[in-house]
Amino acid sequence: MIVLFFGAPGVGKGTQAAMFAERRSFGHLSTGDAFRNAIANQTETGKIAKQYVESGSLVPDEVVTNIVKEALQAPEMEGNVILDGFPRTVAQALSLDQMVNTLGRNIDAVVSIDVAEDIIVARLLGRGRKDDTEDIIRHRLGVYMQETLPILEHYKKNGVVIHEVDGNATTEEVYEKISTLLS
Ligand code: AMP
Repeated sequence: MIVLFFGAPGVGKGTQAAMFAERRSFGHLSTGDAFRNAIANQTETGKIAKQYVESGSLVPDEVVTNIVKEALQAPEMEGNVILDGFPRTVAQALSLDQMVNTLGRNIDAVVSIDVAEDIIVARLLGRGRKDDTEDIIRHRLGVYMQETLPILEHYKKNGVVIHEVDGNATTEEVYEKISTLLS
């Protein structure tokens, strides 16, 4: 099973994806974590990604899709998998369709977590990551609305199940909802 965790920055998708992967033994790929690690380790990918990640812009599609393509071939990704923070553009979604096809697999569901924008901004400011200043947060939300949100239409058109989850609740409450939806 391949499940996409989807939502604006700050809706809690990373937290939920990590919890779900741990408790239900899913493989977990967070492209945001992959980039933060690459930047910390000063790899070639990290050097390319740094300026984008730090300014809250999207890393170019080609760089991201190469990382995902490689990661999906790892043994721990052969079973159930959560993709967290990917795809983020329609072009990435199309690339993912192709990768999944080649692997003889399907995208089984999208978990789309929603939280009101003022709550998102407050949450992210509290998190204190380097790309969590107010200006960069607003930029990331704009990028999400423009580039990422249209992906939902792509999956609707393709008949992929989309589970809408209200993320404005405690971490455990949101987890329970997701867990029930994916049981
Ligand atoms: P995240 O941890 O998911 O909020 O991602 C942090 C940052 O990593 C984003 O603001 C982007 O700069 C970069 N990033 C993560 N995933 C992607 C993706 N699928 N496409 C492009 N950039 C990404």
